Amino acid sequence: MSNFEVDEYGYFGNYGGAFIPEMLYHNVEELRQKYAELINESSFQEQYHQLLSDYVGRPSPLYMAKHLSEKYNAKIYLKREDLNHTGAHKINNTIGQILLAERLGKKRIIAETGAGQHGVATATVCALRGLECVIYMGAVDIERQAPNVARMKMLGAEVVAAHSGSKTLKDATNEAMRDWINNPTDTFYIIGSVVGPHPYPDMVAKFQSVISKETKIQLLEKEGRENPDYVLACVGGGSNAMGMFYHYINEPSVRLIAVEAGGKGVKSGYSAATTQLGKEGILHGSKSIIMQTTDGQIIEPHSISAGLDYPGIGPQHAHLWDTKRAKYVSITDEESLEAGLLLTRQEGIIPALESAHALAYLEYMDLKSDEIVVVCLSGRGDKDLSTYANHFNF
Ligand SMILES: *Cc1c(COP(=O)(O)O)cnc(C)c1O
Repeated sequence: MSNFEVDEYGYFGNYGGAFIPEMLYHNVEELRQKYAELINESSFQEQYHQLLSDYVGRPSPLYMAKHLSEKYNAKIYLKREDLNHTGAHKINNTIGQILLAERLGKKRIIAETGAGQHGVATATVCALRGLECVIYMGAVDIERQAPNVARMKMLGAEVVAAHSGSKTLKDATNEAMRDWINNPTDTFYIIGSVVGPHPYPDMVAKFQSVISKETKIQLLEKEGRENPDYVLACVGGGSNAMGMFYHYINEPSVRLIAVEAGGKGVKSGYSAATTQLGKEGILHGSKSIIMQTTDGQIIEPHSISAGLDYPGIGPQHAHLWDTKRAKYVSITDEESLEAGLLLTRQEGIIPALESAHALAYLEYMDLKSDEIVVVCLSGRGDKDLSTYANHFNF
C-alpha cells in the first residue's frame, strides 16, 4: 500500500476524516464498514461494469488530437469522458453509488447540486433503478440552471430549493445533510465529488478510477507504453482528476497536473483557486484545504464554469498537493473560454468549460516532441453554449 491511499481512520496524510454530527454516525459507519467489501464483490463489479459498458458507453475513447498535437509539438491525447451518457464523468460515480445504495437496502436517494450536473446524473440513475430521488439545489442556482432543473424533473426527481445563505451549492449541501440526519435509515446520500466524510472521498475516487484504468490499456495499445509523461485534469472537488490520476499515482515518471479555476484572477476576489487561496479547515465533513476568512467563514468562490465553483478540494488532493506529488495550477475564465474555442476549431469538439481549464494549461507547458500528454476531457460543452456565445458574439 502506498502512502497516498486512505488509512484506516479515513485520512490521506493530514487530510480527510469524518467530521459529522452524532445523528449521522450510524449511517456513515455502516457505509464505512461495508463499502470496500461490497464494491469488491464479484457480483457488484459485474453489475457495475455491465452498466458502464451498456448504459454509459464505456470504455470512453482515448483520442489523439492531431491538430492540438501539432500546435503544442507533443502527442496530446484526450480521454473522452464527454462522450459518456449524460455528457460527463459524473455518471461513473452515480452508477456506483446507486448500486451500493441498493445493496444497503436504501429506498430513497438524496443529493446536492450546484449547476445541476450531479443532480442530473443522480436523477438519471434513480430513474434507471426505480428509486425515489430528492435533489437539493440553491434557489439562485435553480434560477440560473433552468434546463438542468427541467431535466431532473423530467427524470422524476423532486428538486428542493435551498433558501438560506447565498442560496447556492454550500447551502444546498447543508439542506441535504439536514435531510440525511432526519432520515437516517432509509436514505442514501449520493455525493458528487471526492469530498465529504470518509469513506466518500476514497469511494468516489475508486468509482472514477476507471478513467485511468482504461487510459493505461488504451495508451499501451496506441503507443506501446501505459504511462504518459503528463496527465492533466481540472479540479472542482476533484473527482475527474482523481479518476485520471488514480492508477498513475504510484508511477513516479508520470507528472500529475491539477488545474483549478482562477476565475477573474487569483487575487481579484473572484476566484476558486483553492490551493492558492485556501487554508486547512473542515468543510462538508472532512479536513482539507478550503477558502475561508480568518474567522473560518467560507469565502464564496467564483468561476465561469459552475462545476469548478467550489470553495474546497477533496482531502486526497490536499495530500497530493501537500506532498507535491501533483502540481496545482490555475487558469482564468478568459483563458478557459479561449481554450474551449481552440479545441472546437481545431478538433471539432466543444468541451465543457471545466475541461477547457485543463486544456488551457497546455499553453504553459514546455513540451518535447516525443512527450505524451493525456488530458481528461471531463465533459461536453452543450451546457455552456450560451456562455461561449455571449463571450464570442456568435
Ligand atoms: C462537475 C464537473 C467537474 C468538476 O467536478 P470534479 O469533481 O472536480 O471532477 C468537471 N468537469 C465537468 C464536465 C463537470 O460536470
